[in-house]
Amino acid sequence: MSEKKHEYGLLIDYEYCTGCHTCEIACSQEYQWPAGMAGIKVIEVVQKLPNDKAYLTYLPFPTELCMLCARRTKKGLEPTCVQHCMAACMKYGHIEELAKEMGKKARMVLWVPR
Ligand code: SF4
Ligand code: SF4
Repeated sequence: MSEKKHEYGLLIDYEYCTGCHTCEIACSQEYQWPAGMAGIKVIEVVQKLPNDKAYLTYLPFPTELCMLCARRTKKGLEPTCVQHCMAACMKYGHIEELAKEMGKKARMVLWVPR
């Protein structure tokens, strides 16, 4: 018997991610994760440029703890990380719909739980 594939995911558009970590905190509070654990982590990527300059990019990325807020989405609510991101970096939805939006911008990641 084949394993059921997830049909929903998160489209992460990190162009305007400020690295504020609100998504991590919101997840951690919603699920009472122990300190340092959350369903999403914000990774800082430092790109060194000429003349001692650097370009910082923040990449919010779900961890193996993320269960896509099943309890909330069953009630028609947004995942709590999506709801709390002031920069609207994340969108929850059906993967086919999210995949259609993927090619529209450069800095996007489509995440589906395993
Ligand atoms: S995804 Fe949103 S909430 Fe999370 S660090 Fe980036 S801007 Fe902040
Ligand atoms: S979707 Fe829910 S469980 Fe997953 S990272 Fe966001 S808040 Fe946490």
